[in-house]
Amino acid sequence: MTDTTMTGARNRVRSGIHDTALAVEGLTKSYPARRNLLGRIAESVDAVRGVSFEVRRGETLALVGESGAGKSTVGRLALRLIEPTSGSITVLGDDITAIGASDLRKIRTRATMIFQDPFKSLNPRAQIRYSIAEPMLAQGGYSAADRAKRVATLLDRVGLTSHHLERYPYEMSGGQLQRVAIARALVTDPEIVVCDEPVAALDMSIRSHVVNLLRELQEERNLAYLFISHDMSLVRVIADRIAVMKRGELVECEDAAALFANPTQEYTRTLLSAIPASHPSRRTFRPAPS
Ligand code: ADP
Ligand code: MG
Repeated sequence: MTDTTMTGARNRVRSGIHDTALAVEGLTKSYPARRNLLGRIAESVDAVRGVSFEVRRGETLALVGESGAGKSTVGRLALRLIEPTSGSITVLGDDITAIGASDLRKIRTRATMIFQDPFKSLNPRAQIRYSIAEPMLAQGGYSAADRAKRVATLLDRVGLTSHHLERYPYEMSGGQLQRVAIARALVTDPEIVVCDEPVAALDMSIRSHVVNLLRELQEERNLAYLFISHDMSLVRVIADRIAVMKRGELVECEDAAALFANPTQEYTRTLLSAIPASHPSRRTFRPAPS
């Protein structure tokens, strides 16, 4: 019997217990609006309003939309790096909306994040060895030998060598540092990774290498990605499904192939039309056969 709910290129491993890696329901984040001339807070502004979606295990849900649409806010809310004003967040079957700090630390080993700018997301005063090992130290329960082994394994997997271990961020390129950030994000064996514009800050020439690395790691580890990007030519090759945000709200959430073939929203059509036909990604990135 064919399971017709199984769509998308990588969406084939289903554990049966928690098919959903991440689910958010009615997520809202309000910020106080700027003070007016009388010094009063006139009203609040919703950076994110009533957003609901789920990311299944092993799939990539791309979160797209123009700058300021609320994508990064959703990514941070998903791991409770910032607190929601209302709504709920479920990670791997656990409702994390109201859990305490120690439970949250545990969840953040299973659900991790890669940020846009590795120069800002890695500690400038820490050697690479420490940056990769630090999530294991925070979690506890790993022996020194186990930590060293995991660091070495991941370092090799992301294409760096033991020579890089003693280095500091300023001694490395952006591409190398994003590989370090990827190793750090995966060192505790997470099941979902929130990637916020993970290649946007990198030189064009190395973007495809890092994207391909992310896709290989996803295959090997059955990772789910919430993949935030404003670059539709990149989304086209990496996404199984696409959620479109506009001014804090989700306006469309569709299977990637269906959305590219037939976007129902004018806004989505405008985003898609911004892909230049000659964009190098059309030649460099090759979607894996599904
Ligand atoms: P995106 O990642 O899609 O570019 P963001 O999530 O960064 O969008 O921002 C969404 C909106 O929320 C923007 O209008 C932004 O100015 C606002 N915003 C984000 N963070 C804050 C904050 N700490 N205080 C006030 N407004 C914020
Ligand atoms: Mg952003």
